[in-house]
Amino acid sequence: MFDKAEIPIECSNCGRKTKKTVAWLKNNKAFTCGCGTRISINASQFNREMKKVDKSVDEFKRALKRFGK
Ligand SMILES: [Zn+2]
Repeated sequence: MFDKAEIPIECSNCGRKTKKTVAWLKNNKAFTCGCGTRISINASQFNREMKKVDKSVDEFKRALKRFGK
């Protein structure tokens, strides 16, 4: 269900953040930044970002529950 969530991947060369969807990240181990630097997807960074997504989904669900009452 998180496949459409976008995770920002930071370029180690220029610092530009490129957003990639979770579905894309699952199928790719690296991408090329606009500056030409090839970035390998860092699993720990990816997991950290995924936790942020999980947290925001939890908050969203809580907000929905409040709204439903
Ligand atoms: Zn770059």
